[in-house]
Amino acid sequence: MVTAAQTVKIHVQNVRRDMMAPTNRRPKLMPVLGGAAIERRRAKITTEIAALGLPLPGSLVKRRTRCGNTGCRCHGNPPQLHGPYMTWTRRVDNKTVTRTLDTTQADALRPLLDNSRRLRELTTELETLALRQVRDNPTQPDP
Ligand SMILES: [Zn+2]
Repeated sequence: MVTAAQTVKIHVQNVRRDMMAPTNRRPKLMPVLGGAAIERRRAKITTEIAALGLPLPGSLVKRRTRCGNTGCRCHGNPPQLHGPYMTWTRRVDNKTVTRTLDTTQADALRPLLDNSRRLRELTTELETLALRQVRDNPTQPDP
């Protein structure tokens, strides 16, 4: 419950207006982080990456399927599909590879797949930090 006595802190983001000045540039809404702040965040991210377990590529997908037997209920009206089955799908040489998993297999792979998703998030954040650093360096081109 919010009472009148409580104060709400509003974090005002520091946006460099001068970076928005040239009218042919799109507005820059990413807040400026100083070099020290970027370095602190970079160090936190790399520490988290160092502690991550192995990242397994792909994702878990629950599927319901239709079989090849045309007399089967999965071809009926309305169709009653088989499953759901847990599958692990990933891209290999630009093709989707799918493996059906039992519950034990899915439970074992889930944390490894979570590592992969987290690694992608952290890598994206590192790239965002690099883009900010380039953007805020007047000697570099507008990214
Ligand atoms: Zn069937």
